[in-house]
Amino acid sequence: MTTTATAPAEITVLSPHDGSVVGTLPCAGEDEVRAAVATARSTARDWARTSPEERGRILRAAADALAEHAQELAELNTRETGKLAGEALGGVMAGVGTLHQYAELGPVHRGRSLRGSALAADWTVAEPRGVVAAITPWNDPVAVAAGLLGAAIVTGNTVVHKPSERCPHTGARLGEILAAALPEGVLVTVTGGPETGRLVTSSPDVDMVAHVGSTETGQAIARAALETGAHVIRENGGNDPLVVDEDVDPAWAAEQAAIGAFTNAGQICTSVERVYVHRAIAEPFLAALTAEAERRSADPELLAPLVDRRLRETVHGHVTEAVAAGGTVLAGGEVPAGEGSAYPATVLRDCTQEMTVMREETFGPVAPVCVVDGFEEGLRLAAEGRYGLAATVLTGSIAHAQQAVAELGVGTLKVNNVFGGAPGGAAQPRRDSGSGFGYGPELLDEMTEVKVVHVEMPPAR
Ligand code: NAD
Repeated sequence: MTTTATAPAEITVLSPHDGSVVGTLPCAGEDEVRAAVATARSTARDWARTSPEERGRILRAAADALAEHAQELAELNTRETGKLAGEALGGVMAGVGTLHQYAELGPVHRGRSLRGSALAADWTVAEPRGVVAAITPWNDPVAVAAGLLGAAIVTGNTVVHKPSERCPHTGARLGEILAAALPEGVLVTVTGGPETGRLVTSSPDVDMVAHVGSTETGQAIARAALETGAHVIRENGGNDPLVVDEDVDPAWAAEQAAIGAFTNAGQICTSVERVYVHRAIAEPFLAALTAEAERRSADPELLAPLVDRRLRETVHGHVTEAVAAGGTVLAGGEVPAGEGSAYPATVLRDCTQEMTVMREETFGPVAPVCVVDGFEEGLRLAAEGRYGLAATVLTGSIAHAQQAVAELGVGTLKVNNVFGGAPGGAAQPRRDSGSGFGYGPELLDEMTEVKVVHVEMPPAR
């Protein structure tokens, strides 16, 4: 483990609404992290031996406990990250739903079998990996953590959870609520920042790291795992394009773009990060998107603040750089006066591929728009870049939709619904957006390792 000499001893969270102090929590250092991993390790054997049915029953009880505290956790989340109250509660309830889902899926997570000959058989046994480190972000902290924790625990792993330093109180309280319903040591929560995360993920006694967060962190975690041999899954950043075809209603397309770019103030991994709109409908589309941005900016019930001023600086940096390079602000684009870290819903036109706002994940309420001469041009530009999380196309043409499926190198391709997707769905992010399944039934496969058992008869005596 590396030294914690330069790491801060505590984290103080400031309100994104008014800059007031929400609270302060300690950062776990080397000793605390070692103790947390040792606790999870010491429980791993017994928990792995607990029957899947019993693990499912216990996880169901943990889900029920979370439901009982949903309002409390949602309020804490809103205070720490600024998430709108309804969305924060929705996030907690999504976490409850995911825990219930894994409680049911865990016991029926089954293997495969193969007959080599009439008297020989191979079959697979899915075994827990051991100690799983779950390293989670702040933008939907309960829902994301619940998924990783639920899948890890129901498959017989024990977990060390390191929630984000931007919502440590939410993470710590989630840990208390769930741990109280689980056998001691099955879930241990440590609070702290990147250094605490580094200590957890570089521990030689961690068998798997499940990281949801930024691409840079995911890459650092993957590098550390080369030393420890831990299995890693990474659900990382995106730069999702929205391609708008000429044959759709421009007002509806603008509504889709606004939902994609401005929900949770653009702080969603699959937010719309860049828009390519067909010239034939560009003007009414831009007018409707601008009006919708202004409507949202005027109402704090519709637009959350950014999580903190550090993120606001990044977001505004992308916007000012785009404007300096020829982008035109149609809405927003200015840092508001006052405390806190609010940022207006921003629409930019005349954006080009070279701009950081088009190339990188901005993670703010910004819709940078590029007008294109045809659907093919939009698709070609949408396919560029280092990320491969998700993409959306809005089109009435089956041929164009199929072309998008074939040409966009993303884990999730959505046609005509910017946040579309079946409940319980999972996808594999591509390229710099990560690797492995972080959600859905497939996450149970990631949380286990397969042993193949081959059995045949001894020769007759
Ligand atoms: P982040 O990577 O900065 O932080 C996430 C977690 O990693 C935190 O707990 C943090 O303390 C920890 N961490 C930071 N540096 C570390 C290190 N070197 N070693 C170990 N742990 C370390 O990400 P964030 O800012 O909290 O979250 C926003 C990002 O998460 C965005 O890029 C967003 O797209 C992404 N995200 C992706 C998904 C997905 O499913 N693909 C879902 C939600 C968020």
